[in-house]
Amino acid sequence: MSGGDRDMEHLTQEQINKLTYFYLNRKILSDDLLEAKKHMVQCSSCYEEFCVSIVEAHELAKKGLIDLKILVNDNDDTVRDNTLVRMNSVAGKLQVAVNRMLDHTKANLWSFVPEPQFAAARGQNSNDMQIFVNQISEYSFISLQGDNLIVRLDVEYFKNGKYEAVYYENGKEKIYPFLYNEVEECLEVVIKVKDSDYELIIRECVL
Ligand SMILES: [Zn+2]
Repeated sequence: MSGGDRDMEHLTQEQINKLTYFYLNRKILSDDLLEAKKHMVQCSSCYEEFCVSIVEAHELAKKGLIDLKILVNDNDDTVRDNTLVRMNSVAGKLQVAVNRMLDHTKANLWSFVPEPQFAAARGQNSNDMQIFVNQISEYSFISLQGDNLIVRLDVEYFKNGKYEAVYYENGKEKIYPFLYNEVEECLEVVIKVKDSDYELIIRECVL
């Protein structure tokens, strides 16, 4: 796949499917897809095909008629789903879900459950605070207080991975690396939330 004139050729159905999958899953494009995207920018017929593909796949997936995974080849490790946890805020109400594709051990490690008592115990007004505590370590939690969204991961349990948080609001995405908080001895991300609708995923950094 190193031909220099590759940008002269139209995209294959496979490339369009894969681009569709990456866009709909908001995944970072791999190098070969960046090349494909470059072609698409200059070629209106490929761009149109891609647009149709996106709209169709989005509609079908929304209705539960297809699993987007059919767009990609299982053996292709660039499509590996590296999402661990997904958080959605709809009208200010947080929901947190662990990726169902994770194996049992990982799913346990990344399981966060709502814990209203936890906030109350810390003397905070739980009406103003939503908190999800990790099932393995209570020093790991996701909390929303006012417009501060905080994710803390206990280093004791999470030191073996490299993680980042991806925050989506108003169609924009921002990536936050987890930073070490020496005082709390945890990995931490703090996000100023502006809207009441947003999404945050925590994912494994892919090197
Ligand atoms: Zn083309």
